[in-house]
Amino acid sequence: MKTARVLGILAVAAALVLSGCSTATEGRAQDDSISTNVVGECPSGYILTKIGKCAPADATQPTPTTTTSPAAPNANPIPASEPDVSACDGTQCDLSTSDDEVDRLVAESLTDVAAMWDRLNVDVTLHLYKDGTVGCQTDSETATAWVCVKSKVGGWSPAEMRAWATDHGTSLEDTIRATIAHEVGHIVIYSFGASSDEMVTNETRADCMAGGYAKWTTLDPNNSAMGRLSLDTTKRVLKGPRRNAAVEAGFTGTPTTCTEYTP
Ligand SMILES: [Zn+2]
Repeated sequence: MKTARVLGILAVAAALVLSGCSTATEGRAQDDSISTNVVGECPSGYILTKIGKCAPADATQPTPTTTTSPAAPNANPIPASEPDVSACDGTQCDLSTSDDEVDRLVAESLTDVAAMWDRLNVDVTLHLYKDGTVGCQTDSETATAWVCVKSKVGGWSPAEMRAWATDHGTSLEDTIRATIAHEVGHIVIYSFGASSDEMVTNETRADCMAGGYAKWTTLDPNNSAMGRLSLDTTKRVLKGPRRNAAVEAGFTGTPTTCTEYTP
């Protein structure tokens, strides 16, 4: 009896693993390159090329962001609790009033998701660039957004964001909010040392974090400056049985639920 019950549970788990494999490429960190480490990053002194290989860093290459804190005192220290996030189009990083709806929603969503983490005393550093940036571009033609967790930069594709919304029957705003919550989830998971070398585990952990964001916007309508993002809508954006299960786990659980989540 007991054995049969255990086997039944295993059978359900196997069914979940076997279904819904096709959506994991959305917004993933570049973690499937054979030339990079488990979190999709190249060794120090190397940059990730557009085709996912590690190439020696050019000394003259622009550095989009500073991610390490010097041990020496800083003349103008940034408060530790302040989220350090931005959404940029080239060097233009104030997109909150952009005429382009996708630009504006990416900027607003990134600020909003970071505000949630700030309330949880988790500092988020992430700089997103329209169509990516040197060292962090996607090799996928269908990625809506992506992040390079070690360098804390990433990108989004306006065209793929719009296509994703159309394909999933969700509004552009809801699509972008859930997607950005997923991408920020990757950053937080990495900062917690919880990135997995297994891509599906890594992706579903980020989906779980997006579920946590939906929970935060739902618990109190005043939490989010953008209003409620419902569980149901988040599941429609992050579609598929495995992704939906992870979103629900995040919605009913805690960030720790997500860092330990296994699909
Ligand atoms: Zn992802």
